[in-house]
Amino acid sequence: MTPGCSKRKCKNHAIIHQKYSGLHFCEYHFVEDVERKVKKEMRKQLMVERGDKIAVALSGGKDSSALLYMLKKIFHNRNDLEFFAIAADEGINGFRSLTIKNAEKVANELEVKLFIFSFEKEFGFTLDEIASKGFEQAPCTFCGVLRRKILDRKAKELGATKVVTGHNMDDEVQTILINYIRGDIERLGRLRGRREEFVPRIKPLRAVPEKEVALYALAAGIPIITTHCPYASLSFRFTVKKMLNEFEMKHPGTKYSLLRGYERLSEFLPTAQPTKKLLRCETCGEASASRICKACEIVERMN
Ligand code: SF4
Ligand code: ZN
Repeated sequence: MTPGCSKRKCKNHAIIHQKYSGLHFCEYHFVEDVERKVKKEMRKQLMVERGDKIAVALSGGKDSSALLYMLKKIFHNRNDLEFFAIAADEGINGFRSLTIKNAEKVANELEVKLFIFSFEKEFGFTLDEIASKGFEQAPCTFCGVLRRKILDRKAKELGATKVVTGHNMDDEVQTILINYIRGDIERLGRLRGRREEFVPRIKPLRAVPEKEVALYALAAGIPIITTHCPYASLSFRFTVKKMLNEFEMKHPGTKYSLLRGYERLSEFLPTAQPTKKLLRCETCGEASASRICKACEIVERMN
């Protein structure tokens, strides 16, 4: 027999058992729980202010699509806010064109303007071309840098006052663990610190596990596609992701405690304090941690 919803007085059947909290939720209370977490996380990270122009990084995948839907729902009566979406087309044959199409569909349905920028136009080459060079690093390494560049640059150009991304709890915990494994304390600290010079970022789904984002998208009837990027399995992140999922299966609550543990630890990390002054990239003139920014380094390498 399906268990009932754990909410007091609710007589509905549960559609999910949150092992980490011990609770069962029916569809209604599950949606409510996810949205509560999102609101709480947004308040915790950075308040949305009057007149904010919010750029949402929309890939067309389930996370960013669900996020855009949620934001429109949560802030439906805030006429002072403006939302628009930014998508990066990396040039990944057989994959990105599908998700971009989905992004267009989602943006259309939610009546949000979508701006699409391609690697090819912005940098002069596609990710497929980078991958074909046989560099030592996995394509994701290049992809991440260039996508971030597009998002930072375009959000600023388009006048955004906040940037919102669809990183879920799994993504965040993977990043934390990757930095632990690499012993990269500086980057670990930067995960939470503000980045001056850049439009401030919020990750509203940070406390929602990936599986729950997927279930939310399903419950809300958000169009999602299930194709995966052909390069994903080549990355270090993929190994960490697999390991974490195995752990979570055997020891429910692992991801949650890793996130909470990191939060407590981050108060002691050096870069939780104001970030040090950034330099200007000598090539593109944008804020950078080094003389030449990572994106311009890649462009140079490709040429
Ligand atoms: Fe880019 Fe890697 Fe994501 Fe594919 S999986 S879109 S290569 S970051
Ligand atoms: Zn640069």
